[in-house]
Amino acid sequence: MTSTATAQNLSFVLEGIKQVKFEDRPIPELVDPHDVLINVKYTGVCGSDVHYWEHGAIGDFIVKDPMVLGHESSGVVVKVGSGVTTLKPGDRVALEPGVPCRRCDPCKSGRYNLCIRMAFAATPPIDGTLAKYYRLPEDFCYKLPDSMTLQEGALIEPLSVAVHIAKQGNIRPGNSVVVFGAGPVGLLCGAVARAFGASKIVLVDIQKPRLDFAKKYTATGIYLPQRVSAQENAQRIKEENDLGPGADVVLDASGAEPSVHTGIHVLRTGGTYVQGGMGKNEMTFPIMAACTKELTVKGSFRYSSGDYSLAVDLVATGKVSVKELITNEVKFEEAETAITDVKAGKGIKTLIAGL
Ligand SMILES: [Zn+2]
Ligand SMILES: [Zn+2]
Repeated sequence: MTSTATAQNLSFVLEGIKQVKFEDRPIPELVDPHDVLINVKYTGVCGSDVHYWEHGAIGDFIVKDPMVLGHESSGVVVKVGSGVTTLKPGDRVALEPGVPCRRCDPCKSGRYNLCIRMAFAATPPIDGTLAKYYRLPEDFCYKLPDSMTLQEGALIEPLSVAVHIAKQGNIRPGNSVVVFGAGPVGLLCGAVARAFGASKIVLVDIQKPRLDFAKKYTATGIYLPQRVSAQENAQRIKEENDLGPGADVVLDASGAEPSVHTGIHVLRTGGTYVQGGMGKNEMTFPIMAACTKELTVKGSFRYSSGDYSLAVDLVATGKVSVKELITNEVKFEEAETAITDVKAGKGIKTLIAGL
């Protein structure tokens, strides 16, 4: 293992299933005039990092060559290209870790998260942000206001995921929203729903401690699913939370099949269902209920135009608070412990400090 003191760009590299190492890699060069070089300061551990560590793949994305993990980062600008006008060395920024081609149809229509040539950090074969230095175009770095810490800056990534899910849900003031999954993204979905004006926000999870946290954090109601049918669980959610004929919007941040079923059944006629959580590739689906209730059913993937800047704004203006979610912070050298802790379900969000 390379010593921290002598390394130039120490990086946390996944070599294979449960095989990681610290490697001193070259400091990235600025290749485009609009590139900036960032000294990464904090990185949140994401379920996807854990999944790649444990399985070496997510669906069709397979780790074939050693890959740097991490994509939920904040940092300090250390160098800017000749064409950079919006940032200078010393600026503190949140890093948007996926750079689209800017040329394909989805890019040009403003849905760059669907870019066919997306280069996304820590998605094979693209290296992630768990390194001392990382390079990004200036417009994928979001300056943090003085009121925000770099730790909060690392939470902008999962918050942007939640912003995108909530936007897909088309939440209106006064709406009732049921969120499935009270992990970081589900909790943030609840917080964004509140910021968007929802008056009832019910969090559903199979882990009681997470629900207790959700209740303190942002939920107006919580529900622990029982061993009854999806229809019956949906009925109980409606009754216990005065949802009348059903919720206006369901946001899934669990990816679990029972959540999908209960979510469809808990919606009112004409309601909107958003799938944000990733679980099994295929599952059964209550399509008759979706049909006869004329539901709108949408997917949500990562984040797109305006999501990152809105996420920074929500935190800067105090409409969403993210610091409660940070339950653990470890040194860079302890990155693997952070991964195994998250795997073991410890805390809400673990941050790995940079070098
Ligand atoms: Zn993530
Ligand atoms: Zn594109």
